Amino acid sequence: MKQRLTILGSTGSIGTSTLDVVARHPDSYEVFALSAATQVELMLAQCAQFQPRFAVMASAAHARELADKLQANGLATEVLQAPDALEQIAAHEDVDAVMAAIVGAAGLGPCLAAARAGKRLLLANKEALVVGGALFMDTVKRHGATLLPIDSEHSAIFQCLPEDRTTWAQRVDSILLTASGGPFRARDPASLSQITPEQACAHPNFSMGRKISVDSATMMNKALEVIEARWLFDLAPERIKVVIHPQQIVHSMVQFNDASILAQLGTPDMRVPIACGLAWPERIESGAARLDFSQLAALTFEDADARRFPGLHLSWQALRAAEGTTTVLNAANEMAVDAFLHRRLSFDRIHAVNLETLEKMQLPQAPGSLEDLLAVDARARDCARAAVQRWALA
Ligand code: NAD
Ligand code: MG
Repeated sequence: MKQRLTILGSTGSIGTSTLDVVARHPDSYEVFALSAATQVELMLAQCAQFQPRFAVMASAAHARELADKLQANGLATEVLQAPDALEQIAAHEDVDAVMAAIVGAAGLGPCLAAARAGKRLLLANKEALVVGGALFMDTVKRHGATLLPIDSEHSAIFQCLPEDRTTWAQRVDSILLTASGGPFRARDPASLSQITPEQACAHPNFSMGRKISVDSATMMNKALEVIEARWLFDLAPERIKVVIHPQQIVHSMVQFNDASILAQLGTPDMRVPIACGLAWPERIESGAARLDFSQLAALTFEDADARRFPGLHLSWQALRAAEGTTTVLNAANEMAVDAFLHRRLSFDRIHAVNLETLEKMQLPQAPGSLEDLLAVDARARDCARAAVQRWALA
């Protein structure tokens, strides 16, 4: 039986890499639905190649444009409009697995819909889990969904952990998330204010979406990944550690109680964790190059410099604070990164906005539902918007 897939965010970096892997295995996978925000031409090409039943676009105008072009090309894919349609294609009874590759909190609703429908959920969209936290994990558990990490570090950890998750708490001492350190690892911290969006988006080893590229440069990506790991692996925050490893060959490690460490290695290519998630527990060809040890000069490791990457520590701070604080941190960061990408905020002030939003937001009660989380997210965005304005003028 073919696995029928919905790919949320199919036109992005993870979405296109997923389709690249899927195209290598036409007998095993079938694309049921695709979704994108605005990229009509790429979506049209994907529909022509993969013939999905549904394609979802973010606005009515983009949906209409796509529908016209599909018709002109004699393609039968039906076009629907987000946000409701995203939940529909994530939870549809004819879907087996959902690749969550939308960027940001916008992906939370469809992830929860897939979880409630008991799907196999392939999670690249880390912000959804950072925002959703305990509620996200409870929903997965309650509805018997299968959550498979696609973020390369979390895929690595997942592959190193024993299959029986009930043993993790007694056996695992800590997990070590590796971080590339981004493009400014060796740069003078005093010059960080001069960084442009173009420089921040030119990541040394990967071509990724713009938001995650900026997050990699500030190391807020690693901060989000610490929070992601806390929920995926149900570990206390102090058991999660970060080590800089610029070559990105060791994708992360697990240290057990006897001091033994298991690591997962490979070339830095997101098709590896994607193929791993798609086929788990089987293994399929990903298209990635094999690691050639004779060509590896050195694998190096170092501590993260707190002066250059002050945002990294916000993850542990947010995890120890009131429930809902990670939702606030994510919202602030999305607003700050967007302001930076639109040249309204300097690079070094992304952290200032995040910190100020965390300090100013009051969380009188723990969020107990999706509506509560979205309300916290909206309030935090208002607070961050005001902080962006102040820091833009300062
Ligand atoms: P991207 O910007 O390249 O793609 C995002 C996709 O989501 C696009 O298809 C876009 O059309 C769609 N989208 C954006 N905003 C939307 C909205 N509001 N509603 C509906 N659709 C929307 O991003 P990416 O690099 O592919 O990253 C996707 C997710 O995967 C992010 O959460 C990122 O952190 C995570 N991730 C990415 C990588 C990577 O190598 N790119 C690695 C690990 C994790
Ligand atoms: Mg990652």
